[in-house]
Amino acid sequence: MGPGGAEYITPRAQAALEEAEVVIGYKTYLGFIKENLADKQVIGSGMRKEIDRARQAVEIARQGQVVAVVSSGDPGIYGMAGIILELAPKDLQVEVIPGVTAATSAAAVLGAPLMHDFAVISLSDLLTPWDTIARRIEAAAHADFIIVLYNPRSRGRETQIIQARNLILTHRRPETPVGIVRNAKRSGEQKVITTLQGMLEEEIDMFSTVVIGNSQTRVLHNLMVTPRGYSI
Ligand code: SAH
Repeated sequence: MGPGGAEYITPRAQAALEEAEVVIGYKTYLGFIKENLADKQVIGSGMRKEIDRARQAVEIARQGQVVAVVSSGDPGIYGMAGIILELAPKDLQVEVIPGVTAATSAAAVLGAPLMHDFAVISLSDLLTPWDTIARRIEAAAHADFIIVLYNPRSRGRETQIIQARNLILTHRRPETPVGIVRNAKRSGEQKVITTLQGMLEEEIDMFSTVVIGNSQTRVLHNLMVTPRGYSI
């Protein structure tokens, strides 16, 4: 469904919803696309019910109905595409439809921070051990990647963003520009441009994506820009 704003769902995703007889998704996400759901059988479920949703979708599809499973952003980036493919039998036709992911939505709000090599890292340690996440943050910081953080902080998972920031600070200047975008490209959009030093003072939650600049990223007219390298 892209980031949530009606204009950011791709025409193919829209058409797939029209073709579907059954639409399955996380309830909050279904709210973003409710105009597309008239005349559909809609199955909404709660957070962390991904496995149930995927099993249900595969089961209904096996019985012959056309099913659309909704992910936010791109379904292949921390979305539902992987688990559906893991569960689907060989003869079931599955189409993965690409979408506008949070990294590019947030980047567009911030300016052009992803003009050079970047790493996307989820701070959620529900399915990935924190040691693995920390190792990746450290490697990306060391190698001067721009770093995009998904799932940065939730209630009950508040220390990871602090540890991530501190790890990055061992390799990058405190003045490194950092952008935080909440509800990118949907209603309620908010943007803050701050620094690695100052970022923890800002509101960061599960509706936010955090973009940490590389050693070259600058702030121009209140927008974050990472130079591509052209001599201008
Ligand atoms: N499949 C999704 C990502 C799911 S993980 C995608 O490709 O975008 C969920 C995380 O994505 C959130 O915690 C947040 O960090 C980020 N996110 C998703 N939509 C967002 C939006 N509109 N604005 C800011 N961040 C968003």
